[in-house]
Parts: sequence; C-alpha cells; structure tokens
Amino acid sequence: MVKIVTKLMTENDCYKAGRTIVPRGITIHSTAEPGIRAADWFDLWNKPASEQNGREVCVHAFLDDAGVMQYLPWDMRGWHAGGSDNNDHIGIEICEPPHMAYWTEFDIVGYDAAAQQPYFDQIWQNAVELCVFLIGQFPTISVDEIVSHREGFARGTASGHMDPEHWWQFHGRNMDDFRAAVRAALHP
Ligand SMILES: [Zn+2]
Repeated sequence: MVKIVTKLMTENDCYKAGRTIVPRGITIHSTAEPGIRAADWFDLWNKPASEQNGREVCVHAFLDDAGVMQYLPWDMRGWHAGGSDNNDHIGIEICEPPHMAYWTEFDIVGYDAAAQQPYFDQIWQNAVELCVFLIGQFPTISVDEIVSHREGFARGTASGHMDPEHWWQFHGRNMDDFRAAVRAALHP
C-alpha cells in the first residue's frame, strides 16, 4: 500500500472555508510543473490566496514516486477542478518528472518517455493504490467517476485543462486504462 503522509494546509483559504463533501468520484490531475515534488507543494500552497496572486487552489493530495502527501481532509471540499466536480470529487495531483519542457500550457516537447518510464510506472502504481484506499474509505466513490481533469472539462464539470492525458499519452496510457487498473486492484 502506498505511503500516505498527512499534513493539512490549514493556512489555505480552501481549508479555512471548511466545506464538506460526500465524495462520489476522484479527479486525477497532473501538475504541469515538472520536477516539483509532492512534499514541495506544501510551502507553495499553504497560504492565503492573497499571498498567491489571488489564486484560489487547493487539492486533497499530491503524489510522486515516493508516495502521497495529503493536504486536505478527504471529505473537505477542494478547489481543484474549476467546476462542479469540486462538489463531490476528491482531487489528486500527480507530480510530473523533471526534464519535461512545455511549448504551450499543455503541449510537451522533447520528452524522453523511455527514460521516464520507471517514474511513470511508480506514480501509476501509487495512484491506483491511493484510489483503492479512497474507495475503501468512501464506498460512495464509483470507479466510473474516477475521471481526469480533461474528462471533466469535456463533459462540462471542470475547467479547460488537458491533464493528465497530455502527459500520459507519451506512455501510451489513458483514463480507461487507469480505471481498468483500479478495478483489477479492487478485484484481483
Ligand atoms: Zn488539473
């Protein structure tokens, strides 16, 4: 089981808003900030929006190849999807590896997928195990509602982002593969 460290972002305005949710799904994101590790995000985001150029963001957890950093209670309403998925989805940010470059916001250039495959395989495993853990905590979560930010955007329940498929495509994986992996882990 993936290691989970809990360190709540009590100075973030999202935490202070203190709204709760009944999770029925999980939104999978990736950071589009290559090389910033899960633990690094605590100092970046554990402050009010007024100290983040007004950005109102907070997510339940970040994960990298070392494990999961939980930053909000799982049943607290997060600010990650930019749409109605915030009302009932737990938000997970997957950290992107270093040595990635962006041409535009979601357009990666010169990515060496073969070199990054070991990292990718580990974050994939960690993300699957985190989803299995969360479904164990919240039986209200349906595997069908484990969606990417991109899928939320496509159906109108999240803002216009392309993550994480804009990265995963270099490893030949998509959200159907991910949901299948979660199902396989739930019912081995
Ligand atoms: Zn996102």
